[in-house]
Amino acid sequence: MMAANWKMNKLADEAEEYVVRLLPQISNVEGVDVAIFAPFTCLGRVASMTRDTAVIAGAQNFYYEDSGAFTGEVSAPMLKDVGAGAVIVGHSERREIFGETDEMVARKTVRATKAGLLPVVCVGETKEERDSGRMWEKVSGQVRAVFEHLDAGEVAGEDIVFAYEPVWAIGTGDVASPEDAQDAIGRIRDLLGELGGENFAGKVRILYGGSVKPGNVGEIMAQVDVDGGLVGGASLEADSFAELVNGAAEGG
Ligand code: PEP
Repeated sequence: MMAANWKMNKLADEAEEYVVRLLPQISNVEGVDVAIFAPFTCLGRVASMTRDTAVIAGAQNFYYEDSGAFTGEVSAPMLKDVGAGAVIVGHSERREIFGETDEMVARKTVRATKAGLLPVVCVGETKEERDSGRMWEKVSGQVRAVFEHLDAGEVAGEDIVFAYEPVWAIGTGDVASPEDAQDAIGRIRDLLGELGGENFAGKVRILYGGSVKPGNVGEIMAQVDVDGGLVGGASLEADSFAELVNGAAEGG
């Protein structure tokens, strides 16, 4: 899976121009699911433009209650209503800037799976945590926290995606080495096996995110446990994201 995270970028017309430009460039790609995580304001338009294609339109966040007095929030039924098929959960920017806790991330993950939205659950350590040898403590804690609320027996592995996104690599140009990406993602898969069984763990897709670019995508996607990429900056131009999708198809 190659997923574009547009973050807080693009007006509706810009989103439309992007999709028009992207689709023909990826129409021959096989074996890679493509997702665009758009802002709420252009999500409906992206969803309707991609409805009859293999591209999944997704949101970057939602709230786990379905309706009520939650000013400013958007629920799973609302996302489904505009045609979304997926949602990012627990991106580090939401955790760090907007104070999302492990418990909120877990509740959102459960709600997304029950609503039929594919959650892309983000985990990852800061530079300080990595430098002090606490990478796995942090990442494993975030993964375990999801399973405090999620019953792996009730979810098929295909219906949940994790993204290992070291915070120090996001938007910095400081990409993880292929070996470090494989190390973290391989350990996440082993932990998923412990928490949900081998069959479940084998089917969960685990993406790498953090400064993925056309020049480094092939070697990262070639790692045995890496099932794709979640891409911010390099997904903002349709041509660059198309190159990544094509590169992943070759590298993976
Ligand atoms: C992200 O925001 O999920 C991300 C990986 O960003 P970037 O590709 O810009 O590092």
